[in-house]
Amino acid sequence: MGKPTGFKEFKRKTEPYRDAMARTLDFKEIYTPHDATHLSTQGARCMDCGVPFCQSGDGCPVYNLIPEWNDLVYNNRWKEALERLHKTNNFPEFTGRVCPAPCEGACVLGVNEPAVTIKNIECAIADRGFDEGWVVANPPSVRSGKKVAVVGSGPAGLAAAAQLNLAGHEVTVYERDDRIGGLLMYGIPNMKLEKDVVDRRVNLLKEEGVKFVVNANVGGTGANAIAIDSLVADNDAVLLATGATTPRDLKIPNREGDGIHFAMEFLLKNTKSLLDSNLEDGAYISAKDKNVIVIGGGDTGTDCIGTSLRHGCKSLVNFEIMPRPADSRPADNPWPLWPKIYRVDYGHEEAAKRFGADPRVYSVSGKEFVRDENGKLLGIKTVEVDGSFKEVPGTEKFWEADIIFLSMGFLGPEHYVSKPLALELDPRSNYKADYGSFQTSANKVFAAGDCRRGQSLVVRAIDEGRLAAEQICKFLSASA
Ligand SMILES: Cc1cc2nc3c(=O)[nH]c(=O)nc-3n(C[C@H](O)[C@H](O)[C@H](O)COP(=O)(O)OP(=O)(O)OC[C@H]3O[C@@H](n4cnc5c(N)ncnc54)[C@H](O)[C@@H]3O)c2cc1C
Ligand code: SF4
Repeated sequence: MGKPTGFKEFKRKTEPYRDAMARTLDFKEIYTPHDATHLSTQGARCMDCGVPFCQSGDGCPVYNLIPEWNDLVYNNRWKEALERLHKTNNFPEFTGRVCPAPCEGACVLGVNEPAVTIKNIECAIADRGFDEGWVVANPPSVRSGKKVAVVGSGPAGLAAAAQLNLAGHEVTVYERDDRIGGLLMYGIPNMKLEKDVVDRRVNLLKEEGVKFVVNANVGGTGANAIAIDSLVADNDAVLLATGATTPRDLKIPNREGDGIHFAMEFLLKNTKSLLDSNLEDGAYISAKDKNVIVIGGGDTGTDCIGTSLRHGCKSLVNFEIMPRPADSRPADNPWPLWPKIYRVDYGHEEAAKRFGADPRVYSVSGKEFVRDENGKLLGIKTVEVDGSFKEVPGTEKFWEADIIFLSMGFLGPEHYVSKPLALELDPRSNYKADYGSFQTSANKVFAAGDCRRGQSLVVRAIDEGRLAAEQICKFLSASA
């Protein structure tokens, strides 16, 4: 424990984001540079409480050794902090940027004081590691002669590939998109995670011996297709890490036609065009000068807000079907559970700065999209709903919109990969495989990440990838 009285002396202070108006003029990261002195003081607030809920159970899904690196940062021993961090987390530079930090919700100091700024400290350790040249490729010295195919290059697939390669297996990652990273690349936008941060880690994995094949649509049809049966036959094990990519639709009247898009179509095209041509190729859905409505919240909804603002939208509204959360923990949501409280994310802050008010409207449900006689989108009719989603009579309202983004969650993985293998599915249509074994109903085929558990978090995908790799290693040893 760095400073026994630190938690009494110092107040929590997170690293600020860049100015809300200025940052909407570009797609650069919203973060400001790390200040080592400030973070060392914040590390001193850690009480090393003996039973660190932050690093287990309801806290960090990868069991990051948080009190240990808080202490090391307080004592200016950053390289050792990085070594401790990499023991449990393959990609702290990703989680340090995008994780919602359930660890902070479970921090013991959070019982009666604001939690330690764990996420900021994690990000600073990782970034310093790269700046100082401490993060280098670490290829295995011995190869096992076993081959593993990983389908999908999101955080689950990448974490599994890293661990399997470290164990000496020959790993090939197949990705249907043209760039590696899954939602790290084409979901989470640049302002939360710049893509050279993703490429930097992928290049290290390449140096360590992981092979990547892009534009490889496993189980699909067409020129880029790779048959899943042949992948299973040609490898000693296969890991499916294909994500939960089926979006939930809003099937109300006038859904068909121009102007209504799934969030991921908007976000993917925007990032691809940004990376390919700095948006000069025009191959994206533009929100410029448009009245925008985003239906649904969460990270995806916020990213649609942030992207629309950067395009220069005319107005912006965000519908949430749920009621507004309370400002502090309700009685049925005690510490150390994840606090289900009202939060202002980066996109909300930016929209409030631009238009003078938070864009969110709560307890509202779409009734009917409205189009003119030529099919042009004019807007949407809504109705207010109560806590059990029952319509409140007399609350119908029309909202003008030129473009509407649907961000209402995801309904599990697509099934063209699992069908030829006749994989069993769980009741929510995910690939059925127990957490712990990660074994699907098909021999040698494992599943991890969002395709197994449903849409979740980057840190949970990393956890699943790591643990599935461990199980695959056991399977390969047993079948040696
Ligand atoms: C817009 C958005 C923003 C988010 N923001 C955050 C955030 O800020 N913080 C956070 O913690 N989480 C966030 N999440 C959730 C997080 O990104 C996911 O939980 C995580 O990426 C899941 O990892 P994964 O590896 O299981 O799948 P994915 O990241 O979805 O990767 C799956 C990959 O598999 C590929 N694939 C699918 N089928 C095939 C096939 N047949 N052949 C080859 N490749 C295939 C896909 O193209 C994709 O690249 C966000 C999600 C979205 C949609
Ligand atoms: S990965 Fe997430 S939960 Fe774990 S220490 Fe980092 S911010 Fe906290």
